[in-house]
Amino acid sequence: MGRRRKKVVHIPKKRLPKFFSCPVCGKETVRVEINRDEGGQAIAQCSSCSLREEFQIKQAQDTVDVYCMLTDRVYNTLKRTPIIKQKE
Ligand SMILES: [Zn+2]
Repeated sequence: MGRRRKKVVHIPKKRLPKFFSCPVCGKETVRVEINRDEGGQAIAQCSSCSLREEFQIKQAQDTVDVYCMLTDRVYNTLKRTPIIKQKE
């Protein structure tokens, strides 16, 4: 019995991800745009599904914070109104 040592170490360059995983569809297609000129407006949108949310952010907040707010909002919305509506 031959033992093959298969060691695949994949280290993707992932310091600051441009895309976040979507809390709705699960794909890494959420992009966060920040317009600091307009009083700190941030838009998070998924290019895979129709998710799009706008946020007001503070000076110190960054894309990661926007993504956190996005997931919070999505999960809160999911609790109230499920996205998957069952139609009969
Ligand atoms: Zn999505």
